[in-house]
Amino acid sequence: MNEVNELKIFSENIKGKIIFDYDLKKTNWFNIGGIAKAYFKPESLSELIAFLKKFGSKEKIFVLGAGSNVLIEDNYFKGVIIKLGKNFSNISLLTETTLVAGSATIDKKLSEFACKNNIGGFEFLSCIPGTIGGGLRMNSGCFHKEFKDILLSIQAVDKDGKILTIPSSKIKFTYRGNDLSKDIIFLSASFKGKFEDKQIIQNNINSLKVKKDQSQPTKIKTGGSTFKNPKDQTNEKVWELIKKSVSLDTKFGGAEISKKHCNFFVNKNNATFTDMKNLIDFVKQSVKSKTGIDIETEIEIVK
Ligand SMILES: Cc1cc2nc3c(=O)[nH]c(=O)nc-3n(C[C@H](O)[C@H](O)[C@H](O)COP(=O)(O)OP(=O)(O)OC[C@H]3O[C@@H](n4cnc5c(N)ncnc54)[C@H](O)[C@@H]3O)c2cc1C
Repeated sequence: MNEVNELKIFSENIKGKIIFDYDLKKTNWFNIGGIAKAYFKPESLSELIAFLKKFGSKEKIFVLGAGSNVLIEDNYFKGVIIKLGKNFSNISLLTETTLVAGSATIDKKLSEFACKNNIGGFEFLSCIPGTIGGGLRMNSGCFHKEFKDILLSIQAVDKDGKILTIPSSKIKFTYRGNDLSKDIIFLSASFKGKFEDKQIIQNNINSLKVKKDQSQPTKIKTGGSTFKNPKDQTNEKVWELIKKSVSLDTKFGGAEISKKHCNFFVNKNNATFTDMKNLIDFVKQSVKSKTGIDIETEIEIVK
């Protein structure tokens, strides 16, 4: 039996959904992407485990959060995209200052929940448009705070369907990354904050949002920061390097550089994957030849 038929039989026996030949364009902030062989939205953890036990080692799998840090190729994706939905987005209090959130929880929701419960330390999450799963993978952060600063432990499942609990102390975090296997799927995480009055927390959130809105574009088709700051090579921010190396009017097809923040690239006019990739490559090469510095993408290219 071929793999598509096996997936079809599996999908007939579950409550969740497997959609075949799924258009990935609408799944990500860039609005770019091709057709995936299958798109799986498990209804429950047991369904996800059953799927992994059967297909975890033979299918190419990519887990998608809110799609705010990915640039997806527009060729056919020969595998299964897994999207964790609302049953993976519960938030609950463990103690007065610790809480647990499902990996499909939107960062902003966790920040709001913490505020409502007088738990400070989660304010920065109100400025990151991803999910907890994406934030754990990326060690996302802003305003001098990263996921690692509030994380206690992660619950995950490996590609054989085995559940793992990983304490934060066992994870080596880096700037926008960590040493965890790419093969594991995060299910939930527990976090620690500190007791603080909700009005003070709300004021902090409001002022961070104002700062963010002043410096970065928000309501556009973008993947956020395209490149990481090359901290090991220079103290200059990557946007400063881009600004002095490239004309900010540079365009490739529908792909442009944001006028508000030159490290944000925008799908302005039905850009294809190739348009965006050409813009990324051009900027990277221009920075290298002008400054001698190698810059690395922060957004993930999904093939
Ligand atoms: C307007 C804008 C502003 C942004 N501002 C910031 C910022 O201030 N700071 C910052 O750090 N980032 C920022 N970003 C980037 C992005 O929001 C973060 O990287 C975010 O944490 C990605 O989360 P996501 O759910 O969208 O992940 P996705 O983009 O869907 O995926 C990113 C990675 O996480 C993996 N992943 C997602 N869920 C899981 C899971 N459950 N298990 C295992 N792996 C998983 C994916 O496989 C992929 O490797 C911004 C992006 C935009 C568009």
